[in-house]
Amino acid sequence: MKIRRVEVGAYQTNCYMVEQDSTRILIDPGDADGQVLPFLERQSFRPDAILVTHGHQDHYGDVSAICTAYDVPVYFPEEEVGYLAESSRQGSLWDTGKREAFMRILQTHGRFVKDGEIVRIGTIAFEARMIAHHTRAGMCLYDAENKVIFTGDNLFRGSIGRTDLYKGDTKGLCDGIRKKILPLPDDIKVYPGHGEPTSVGIERRTNYYLTHDPEALW
Ligand SMILES: [Zn+2]
Repeated sequence: MKIRRVEVGAYQTNCYMVEQDSTRILIDPGDADGQVLPFLERQSFRPDAILVTHGHQDHYGDVSAICTAYDVPVYFPEEEVGYLAESSRQGSLWDTGKREAFMRILQTHGRFVKDGEIVRIGTIAFEARMIAHHTRAGMCLYDAENKVIFTGDNLFRGSIGRTDLYKGDTKGLCDGIRKKILPLPDDIKVYPGHGEPTSVGIERRTNYYLTHDPEALW
C-alpha cells in the first residue's frame, strides 16, 4: 500500500492518496474551492472511490467536484448523514452551498458505512470503526494487513479532535479512542485528519489526553 499525504485548504486537512495494486482511493479530499480536482489531474491520480471520514467541510468541501468528474462512489458513515443536515447549528463556520452540494452527491453516489463494516474497494479492505463526539460518527479506517489506521479527526499526533463544535464532547471522544484505537498493536501506523503520522504505541504512551483522566482535563 502506497500512501501519500497532501495538506489541503485553510485548515491544512490531510488528503490521502492511497494506492494498492491497481486500486486508487482518496481519503478526505479536503476543501480548496475546487482546486483538488485539477491537482489530481496534474498528478494523473484517478481515484476508484472517495472515502470521507466525517461531516466537516474541511474534509468534504471538494468532494462534489471530484465525484462529478470521475463518477465514483463516496463512502461516508451512515450515522453521520443526519449530522450534515443538522450542522447549520455550527453557525457560520461552514459554507451552506458546499454542504448542500455534498449532500446532493451523497444522494446519487453515497455508500453508507456502518460501524464494524468491511469496506472493500478493489484490493483494498478497511474495517470501519466509528467514534462519536468529534462529530456524531467519525470513521476510522483500519487495515490490519498493512498495519495502518486512518483516524480522521478522532486522534491526532499528541492530541485529539476538537470537541467545541456541534456534538463534541471531550470525555466521550477519549473513551471512544480508548475503546476503538488503543487496543490495536503498538506498531499500527496512524494517519490522522490533520498533522503528521504517528503510531498507536506512541499515542498510548505519550498522548496527554489518553494518559490522563479525561474527567480531570478541564
Ligand atoms: Zn472535523
